[in-house]
Amino acid sequence: MSNRIAILGSTGSIGTQALEVVRAHPTHFGVEVLTANSNVDLLIEQAIEFQPNAVVISDESKYSKVADALSDSDIKIYAGTEALEQIVQMETLDTILISIVGFAALRPTLKAIETGKNIAIANKETFVVAGEIMGEKARQFKANIFPVDSEHSAIFQCLAGEMHNAVEKIYLTASGGPFRGRNIEFLETVKAADALKHPNWVMGAKITIDSATMMNKGFEMIEAKWLFGLNPQQIDVLVHPQSIVHSMVQFEDGSIKAQLGLPDMKLPIQYALGYPNRLKNSFPRLDFVNFSKLEFEPPNKEVFRTLLIAEEAMKKGGNMPCVVNAANEIAVAAFLKDSIGFMDIPTLIEESMQTIDYIKTPSLDDYFATDKKTRLKVLERIN
Ligand code: NAD
Ligand code: MG
Repeated sequence: MSNRIAILGSTGSIGTQALEVVRAHPTHFGVEVLTANSNVDLLIEQAIEFQPNAVVISDESKYSKVADALSDSDIKIYAGTEALEQIVQMETLDTILISIVGFAALRPTLKAIETGKNIAIANKETFVVAGEIMGEKARQFKANIFPVDSEHSAIFQCLAGEMHNAVEKIYLTASGGPFRGRNIEFLETVKAADALKHPNWVMGAKITIDSATMMNKGFEMIEAKWLFGLNPQQIDVLVHPQSIVHSMVQFEDGSIKAQLGLPDMKLPIQYALGYPNRLKNSFPRLDFVNFSKLEFEPPNKEVFRTLLIAEEAMKKGGNMPCVVNAANEIAVAAFLKDSIGFMDIPTLIEESMQTIDYIKTPSLDDYFATDKKTRLKVLERIN
């Protein structure tokens, strides 16, 4: 029996790599659902190749283009953002891969968890905003959540067979991004095109900017806290420019387990979709001779202060991480258009943390309200 999957955000960097994993294991996986925000051409191309049961295009104005292109097939076509919340409930699904970027993934992710199916999740913003609610729902509806983010996949792999052993701490490794070793004066001058040149990973635009500011690592700390039930003192960030050690777990006897491999997202995607099996593949192998030096250094939190921002938000909890995420999404979108400077990103986030009302124990509705309010505030500041 094949594992029938829905890929939410199939046209993105993670989504397209997930389809490469499916191509490598055609009998193991079957594609049931593909979804895209607005990239109709790629969605149509994917639908023709993989013949899913259904596709969703979130941008309703593009419905007819998809419908016309797929009119000869039996593929069901839905449009609009609410269609995502419905499609995850399809009976025939075994696994739902969440590869939509940003806060927009939250509603469909919660609905997906409520189905009790297996969830493979690349999206980290949902954990940042509502990790606690996601965990509660996963327990309530008995849904397994498999991390796709490479660091969290590494930790998950290191924890295999260690269920009865307590974790002393984890090390999240970070490449350091394109501006590792640079000072603030330099960072004040960089443009979107410079920040988009990541040394080791090819990813979507938003996460590439988050990697350059190191907010990505800050978010991953919060993601790890919720995924693995850690407290902030147990989470350390280590800059590791080669991106070969994907993260590490230190146990109470002082022993450390690490997971290594080439920086290739197909590996954590395949592990999450194939769990508990390691499916044989012919993806490129790591040759240690090409990586004879693996270096580690502490992050520079004075220059990359998004790490301090994330630590503070994680410790404060409540709706604070939601404020940080919303401000970051707006600031990054503006930076990508070169309408603000690189160092305006942390400044706009800090301003939001000071001005948006703090809620200690937010409801789900509070998160949506906080997200909306913060976005408007930051947009006002930029314009
Ligand atoms: P991307 O921008 O390349 O792709 C995003 C996908 O989500 C696209 O298919 C797009 O159509 C869809 N989408 C975007 N906005 C949407 C909306 N409002 N409603 C519905 N669909 C929408 O992003 P990506 O790099 O693939 O990243 C996806 C997620 O995975 C992010 O949360 C990112 O942090 C996480 N992640 C990515 C990588 C990576 O290597 N790219 C690694 C680790 C984690
Ligand atoms: Mg990562």
